[in-house]
Amino acid sequence: MATPAPAPRTIAPAVRATVSRHRRGVRLIAVASAIVLAGSVMQASVPSLSASSSRPVPAAPVAAISAAQPAGPTPGQPRLRADPLERLVAAVTAGGARPQPLGPPARVVYRVKTSQKVVALTFDDGWSPAAGRLIVDTLLREHVAATFFVNARYVHWDPALWRTIGASGFAVGNHTYDHRDLTTMSATAIAADLAKDADVFRQLTGYAMAPIVRPPYGAHNRRVDAAIRAAGYSTEILWDVVAGDTSASRSDAALIASAIQGRAGSIVLMHMGPSSTPRILAAVIASYRARGFRFVTIPELLALGG
Ligand SMILES: [Zn+2]
Repeated sequence: MATPAPAPRTIAPAVRATVSRHRRGVRLIAVASAIVLAGSVMQASVPSLSASSSRPVPAAPVAAISAAQPAGPTPGQPRLRADPLERLVAAVTAGGARPQPLGPPARVVYRVKTSQKVVALTFDDGWSPAAGRLIVDTLLREHVAATFFVNARYVHWDPALWRTIGASGFAVGNHTYDHRDLTTMSATAIAADLAKDADVFRQLTGYAMAPIVRPPYGAHNRRVDAAIRAAGYSTEILWDVVAGDTSASRSDAALIASAIQGRAGSIVLMHMGPSSTPRILAAVIASYRARGFRFVTIPELLALGG
């Protein structure tokens, strides 16, 4: 998210002019809101499953995801923190132009609070079946459970690989068919894209996806959360640990050092695409195991959270 969200097309010119005139004032309000929200996010720390299941998702998921993500850049995975103020302004102006009642949001999980030493390795996208086969080989050889968030457009490229993934008991979650930024899409379009991802995956592999969604780029907001819930998915899965494997400039050692930062209940973000991921995977697995961790799928992790 290097650039701010475009202004909603539905804002009439007159309204847009008014918004422009008051943009400075709105921005001040947004600054104050950001300060208040940042405080509340810091108090709340990383949302846990148990907390989020009994408490509404914080009103500012944009701020929450920024706070929950570990420090350090992850090129290739644009972040909402690129300009949270712009996004808050956009949210305020959009809301003023066309107030819309939102349904209940999907819960957003970054990590599951548990005393058990478990971590969930997750692999997104799928644009390199060659890397995917190496990843699956390693996981099977090491008897490691894991979860894949796939864009089914890539399942066409190697259905046999994805049938193996389904047959081997790995969990597969919805990452949308086209990997578009959901914050730029209508609720109807979001629902259609999620349905297409799940339908194509089932048609090509014969296996059903787990009822979990990871929004592309981790990009979501209150409106997206409501659209995902309305589409039939109650849970969005983000992450609290990133390997940074989409960065071509980082060494394998640096990627490993990032990927092994998980704690009990952590969700580790990696990808099925970069050539580095299969290279670092065995070392990542070995590091967690040496410290007494075991590996679970996301559905298993969610079950541990009660
Ligand atoms: Zn992705």
